[in-house]
Amino acid sequence: MTKNGEQAGATFSTDLPIRDDLRGREPYGAPQLDVPVRLNTNENPYPPSPRLVDALSRAVAEIAGGLNRYPDRDALELRKDLADYLGNGLTARQLWAANGSNEIIQQILQAFGGSGRTALGFEPSYSMHPIITAVSGTGWINAHRDEDFGLEAARAVAAIEEHRPDIVFLTSPNNPTGTALRLEAIEAVLRVAPGMVVVDEAYAEFRREGTPSALSLLPGNPRLIVTRTMSKAFAMAGTRVGYLAADPSVVDALQLVRLPYHLSAVTQTVARTAIAYRDELLGAVEALRAERDGLVGWLRGEGLEVADSDANFVLFGRFTDRRRVWQGILDHGVLIREVGPPEWLRVSVGTPEEMAAFRAALKESR
Ligand SMILES: *Cc1c(COP(=O)(O)O)cnc(C)c1O
Repeated sequence: MTKNGEQAGATFSTDLPIRDDLRGREPYGAPQLDVPVRLNTNENPYPPSPRLVDALSRAVAEIAGGLNRYPDRDALELRKDLADYLGNGLTARQLWAANGSNEIIQQILQAFGGSGRTALGFEPSYSMHPIITAVSGTGWINAHRDEDFGLEAARAVAAIEEHRPDIVFLTSPNNPTGTALRLEAIEAVLRVAPGMVVVDEAYAEFRREGTPSALSLLPGNPRLIVTRTMSKAFAMAGTRVGYLAADPSVVDALQLVRLPYHLSAVTQTVARTAIAYRDELLGAVEALRAERDGLVGWLRGEGLEVADSDANFVLFGRFTDRRRVWQGILDHGVLIREVGPPEWLRVSVGTPEEMAAFRAALKESR
């Protein structure tokens, strides 16, 4: 394992006065290994073109002379660009941006969660939701998705009525299963949830034709928050920009918890340049969706179980010893993710060459 691949573990001395509820916890740890084919963190495999690299360099050069000053605390121009990108009649007042949608989620928990409050999610789902929840001092309630990783409205409503959480997390398309939610389920949740409803749409751009976004539900639902990110389809994971769309009152509430100047001037200008080049950056989405659908078909042809995917990754199984299969694939230079329900593995969709390497590695590792 490389330095980054090592699990840091809880190595602090026992007399370090760390919070009781953090004692013994493990840090978030998707291994960052130096292998030829990395298909483990759902990034867009296509790097920025030389033309975009040039535009990014120029944009940073233009603001570099002003880096002695703090950036625009409200990131207003970036929020305008994001509103324009999302469409749906949204304005900058309804948008908020931060360092990755993880920071967005953290701010939501700081404003709407906290001690004595709870957040509920339907697992298997994104592992950072319970982690950020716990670190914010909020109680986590683990509800469950259906057998096929979908979420029927009735099941969701029953869980919310039973627990009355302050925050509900819905992930659509879901990570690590790839499953998108039907709008009816989200609407049903909005009708009964006593607090905020967060729909994490990190993979929205990859959804199949006809799969709706919760953005269309924003009018008339002031407690709905839709989160998005530039880390996945937008091919800007290294920039760290996530954002949300919600009622302006939600954006106002988040001002109470955000750190001043949280989004650097470099981040803001790089993100704005990327949005200006969105046709190029999102140009690969079509190809990635086709590659995904091909991968799902191929895995099923191999006799494996595969969850339907509206994202840029695929969950497949089942393996009685998934660690052995994961390690076998890694030994062939392909890193995928050991995540989700115990007998399943997740692979991100890469370039055609990367997928060929994955298919060959899997065939030899089963
Ligand atoms: C990758 C991912 C995120 C994105 O995190 P960033 O902090 O924006 O990079 C958020 N939600 C889900 C479900 C994800 O899979």
